[in-house]
Amino acid sequence: MSSMMELIQELWYLARELVSDEYDQALYRLADEVPMTIHEYPTGMPAWTWTVPEKWTCRQAYLETLDGRRIIDRNEHPLHVVSYSLPFEGVVSREELLDHLHVHPDNPDWIPFVFKYYQRDWGLCLPGSVRDLLDEDRYRVVIDTVFEPGTLKVGEVIVPGELEESFMLAAHLCHPAMVNDDLSGVVVGLDAMRQLLAGPKPRYTYRFLVLPETIGSVAYLSQNEDLIPTMAGGLFLEMLGNDSGLALQQSFQPESQADRALIAGLRGAVPDAYVGPYRTIINNDERQFNAPGVRVPMLSLSRVERPELTESMYRPYPEYHSSADTPEIVSQARLEDGRQAVLVMLAAFDRNEYVVNRFKGEVFASGHGIWIDYHTNPEGHRNLFQIMERCDGSRTMADIALELGISFQAVWEIVSRFVEKDLAAFSRIPQPTDPPRRAGLNRNLI
Ligand SMILES: [Zn+2]
Repeated sequence: MSSMMELIQELWYLARELVSDEYDQALYRLADEVPMTIHEYPTGMPAWTWTVPEKWTCRQAYLETLDGRRIIDRNEHPLHVVSYSLPFEGVVSREELLDHLHVHPDNPDWIPFVFKYYQRDWGLCLPGSVRDLLDEDRYRVVIDTVFEPGTLKVGEVIVPGELEESFMLAAHLCHPAMVNDDLSGVVVGLDAMRQLLAGPKPRYTYRFLVLPETIGSVAYLSQNEDLIPTMAGGLFLEMLGNDSGLALQQSFQPESQADRALIAGLRGAVPDAYVGPYRTIINNDERQFNAPGVRVPMLSLSRVERPELTESMYRPYPEYHSSADTPEIVSQARLEDGRQAVLVMLAAFDRNEYVVNRFKGEVFASGHGIWIDYHTNPEGHRNLFQIMERCDGSRTMADIALELGISFQAVWEIVSRFVEKDLAAFSRIPQPTDPPRRAGLNRNLI
């Protein structure tokens, strides 16, 4: 079994394009690490309003002077050619060439990642410092790319639970020769699944999807519509190896129990993690799950500076979408912390239920063996009474944690004492225990 960092070292440099041999090679390698089903969707298959794209292969691509001096060559870096560039071969004026060259907006030494999956154009990418030296009138361009029928592949790892209801994890694998975005999310998800598979059977079923961004999610969802009603929540994973703090982005339904449980769970493990609303931290496959007709509350976990510290969500870390996103900017320690955070959040989601009181009035705590001494544990004492007050069959443990601004784990600790002493029970559905008021009495006046 390879560590997360070993998998990154092995797979990062592959040109993992949407539908391509090197994407497949990476996916099959990951399937050696954990039981994985690989779904295949053929080129041209309609997927809701989308169509599965062609397989794309770049056989060679370079730019040279008319006397044969190579300026850039894709053999030296997969990012030198625009992903899904049309083929092109010919001599062009410098002016025309410049229209098809892409450079990094900030760093003159980095090659940018540019993709034109659907715009259909040819293009090359290079460091700005190299472009700025181009002073000849004409250049030779060779882009030998092939578009042909293939199959888009989505890997699915399943941890069966007691319930058919599932929690979806997702990460994309389609960023050629880059690490933090996106391979880091893939290996963290994979390692979390390895740990879940090795542990006791969870309540929910967990499904982890490894896919090409956007189209992979749409293809999978459109071909598994019957599963959508069973999806109780989800978490997208990306950018988990760099040094920024953990950031959790809420779903389109921030009041969902998935949102509440994950936020309250993360608070217990990483109290200083940043939590932000939907579409304010990152934009990825969670959009397809949150979208109309699907509406699965999918959150997203990444390592991103708080928005006030970054220029824009379109540049979440300096090396983003460039040749500088290499194994050097990620570490096994950060990946492990990320995986731990994922597991803690999933544990909270898995345990989250309504708490139904079997007591009336305030429990005689010392008489029932649940007393917490305020001299030795003032916080525990306060939690005990504030949590007790909220055990009424209409709140989940995550609801109680968020109401009180404490962690899921703190609520769990107290509630499990109540359940042990038969003072409360768990329920998957609300069972409010507030007594009905006599008819005609205006509740608002009570
Ligand atoms: Zn990206």
